Formats: sequence, structure tokens, C-alpha cells
Amino acid sequence: MLTTAPRGTHDILPGEVEKWQHLETMIRFHCRLFGYGEIRLPLFEHTELFQRGVGETTDIVEKEMYTFTDRGGRSLTLRPEATASTVRAYLEHNLNGAPQPAKLYYIGPMFRYDRPQAGRYRQFSQFGVEAIGSADPTVDAEVILLALDLYAKLGLSDLTVQLNSIGCPKCRRQYRDTLVKYLSQQQNELCDSCLGRLERNPLRVLDCKEDACRRVTKNAPEFSGFLCAECREHFELVKGCLERAGARYELNSNLVRGLDYYTKTVFEITWSGLGAQTALCGGGRYDGLVEECGGPPTPGVGFAMGLERLFLALDQAGIELPGKEAPDVFVAALTREDNATAFELLTWLRRAGISAEKDYLSRSLRAQLKHANRLGASFTVIVGGEEAVRNTVSLRNMADGSQEEIRLDDLISVLTERLHC
Ligand code: ATP
Ligand code: MG
Repeated sequence: MLTTAPRGTHDILPGEVEKWQHLETMIRFHCRLFGYGEIRLPLFEHTELFQRGVGETTDIVEKEMYTFTDRGGRSLTLRPEATASTVRAYLEHNLNGAPQPAKLYYIGPMFRYDRPQAGRYRQFSQFGVEAIGSADPTVDAEVILLALDLYAKLGLSDLTVQLNSIGCPKCRRQYRDTLVKYLSQQQNELCDSCLGRLERNPLRVLDCKEDACRRVTKNAPEFSGFLCAECREHFELVKGCLERAGARYELNSNLVRGLDYYTKTVFEITWSGLGAQTALCGGGRYDGLVEECGGPPTPGVGFAMGLERLFLALDQAGIELPGKEAPDVFVAALTREDNATAFELLTWLRRAGISAEKDYLSRSLRAQLKHANRLGASFTVIVGGEEAVRNTVSLRNMADGSQEEIRLDDLISVLTERLHC
């Protein structure tokens, strides 16, 4: 147990971590392009924030939260997602007084007591954006495009945007009644969880993954027929903007969020190559959430994408992000006596901006060269011997094994030139 990480968590080691850094850099650059600024949120919040902001009847709150009592007797929860925290921060820091909408993004770990399997972990990373303070349909389209363009930049194609509108509390009431009537007629076919949902959160029956429930929901009444004029117009504009941007989408009337504060647009971006866990990204509009969290009525829209799933997709698609970088130079000591000189040179090189490594295990020269090769160094500088007396070093090009004597004074300029040519 002491030598294994907790179930559903994982380490990211050097070699792999560079890919994450590369992805994160791309995300930050991409968000700048779209005008979103980074927000860094706490990893835990008051449990109540998620109960209110994610919803008591969601899987997350019902069975996936890591909740604990701290030494001061407060109930805290490791964040299972970051929309509620972003809304809390928006209110806490009066971001509604700043130019609207507040366009924010976050990257970081989330915690859910999920059943671990490929693409599903207990600690996983999400990148998400939230635009709070605008009801404009172009913002819905913007966040969808932000996600799509990022995937495209990474080289992932064949993604599907699934799109639906779940209206507003006004038009949802009528739809809800019709849906409950339809589902009640086929109660015997529904799974136990859905029987419970029928009362508390009937829309969620629509996205149940059980085969029996799917057979029932396949022919369920669709929301599109119930949208009020405003919601219909909003949806048409979102679709129109996506079309203008050349983004393809599929309408999926079973895509829902069963909570009243989720409104209008819902979407999911899926990639078929992922097997069971096809959802790379999910989001939508939440015009009632800020109010639910104690603020004034304020519209908002956003998404969250799973980064581990994104890496799985990149892997499957054969797309490699840049991995571990090799040192520019390896400094080898001819003998043990040259160890401190090697250290001094190493320090110079690093201060000159040249990444450098040395031997730390008293290896022979031969073993040092082998080690330099293993590290992938472009050059090895050998210090010591007669060269030291002449104030020179041997510079070995590791690609072809050629070696030459270089004046110590010239070393940095020679290396800088060769490394950057
Ligand atoms: P799922 O139906 O797969 O459980 P979800 O509806 O719980 O997804 P969201 O809350 O919408 O997912 O989270 C957005 C994204 O975060 C998902 O599309 C997925 O890429 C990722 N994600 C969610 N849960 C996990 C998890 N346990 N491990 C890894 N990634 C996850
Ligand atoms: Mg889930």
C-alpha cells in the first residue's frame, strides 16, 4: 500500500509531464486568443456550494464527492468540478462590476469517487471555460468553437458536437409534464435509478445508459417541440453561428442536464475512437446558476473537458506531443580529479542558458559517454588532461562522434552557435 498510489489516481513522470506542459501552454495561448483569463480556484470548497451549485440529484452530489470534516468542524469537499467555484468567485470578488461577460478559464485536478477504468479516474484534470454575464447566443457558439478549434490545433479530427436545447424553466414545465406522462406509461421498463428520477429529476432519465431505459427514451417526446419563442430563437442563432464557423453538429434530443438552473444550450463533444468513455467535453448554458448560488440573476455558459481522455484520444489517433527534452551538453570529467572542474563548467553553461548535465556516479570516461548518449545530449565537453593545461576542452559531437579541441574562452559562443544553427 505504501508503494501504490490510491485507486483512481496516478503520477505523471518526467517524459510524460512535458506533454502535459505542452498541452497546457497550448490551452493558455488558445484562451488568450479567445479573450479568456485564467482563474485559480481552491481545490476544496464548502460542501454546500456543490450541493447547491451542482445539484442534490446529480450523480456527482449523490455518490461521487470526497467530503470530509476539517478540524474546525466544517464540511468541506474536494472539488468534483469547477463551475460552482467559478460562480462563487465571481460573486465573492464582485466580478459583475467588471466588464461583462467575465470570461474565465481554469486547468486543474478534480476529484470524484468514480469507478476507475480507462478514461475514468478519481483524480483527473479538467480544462474549462466559463463566460458569466451574457445571455447572447454567440457566446454559446464561442465556447463550443473554442473547444473545437483547440482539438483541431492538436490534430484531432472526426469529433462530433452533440447539441440540444433544454429550454428555460418556463417552457420546461410543459415538457416535463409531457415527459413524465410518457415515462409513467412505461414505468415497468425503467431501471431502479430511473424510477427514482421519474419523481425528482425526470429529464435525467433521458441520458440513462441502461439498454432498457434507452429503448423507452428512444421514442420519448422531444424538447424541440416545446421550446418557447425566445428559447427557439436562441437555439436557432447558436446553430446559425456554428454553421457560419463551419462547425458541424448533430442534434441529440437525449442530451440533458436535469437541473433547473441549466438552460437552453447543452452540448457534448465526443470522439468515437474512445470506446466506452466517448465524451471529451461537456457544457452548456446555466442562466439560473448564479442566482442559485446566492447572486443576482446572471446568465452564464461554459464547458469542461477531461484532459486524460484527451490524451487517450491523441494516443489512439497517433498524435504525439513533444516529450522529454534532452540536455544540450554533457560535461564529462576525464578523471575523478576533474570532477570539480566539470561542476564549474556545468554551472557556467547553465548560467549562459545552455542546458547541461554531468555525471554524479564517478563513472569512467567511457561510461560517461554512454550515459551522455542515453540522455540524448547533443554535445559532450570533456574536461581535464593536457587540454586543461592548455586552457582548452574536447568538444565531442554526439551525433557523429567527431571531436575537436576548443579554447575554454570560446566554448560558450561555439556551443551557442552550433546549438542554434
Ligand atoms: P461521464 O458521463 O463520462 O461520467 P460527466 O457527465 O460526469 O461524464 P462532466 O461532469 O460533464 O462529465 O465533465 C466534463 C468532462 O470531464 C467529461 O466529458 C470527461 O471528459 C471528463 N471527466 C468526467 N469525469 C471524469 C473522470 N472520472 N475521469 C476522467 N475524466 C472525467
Ligand atoms: Mg460522471
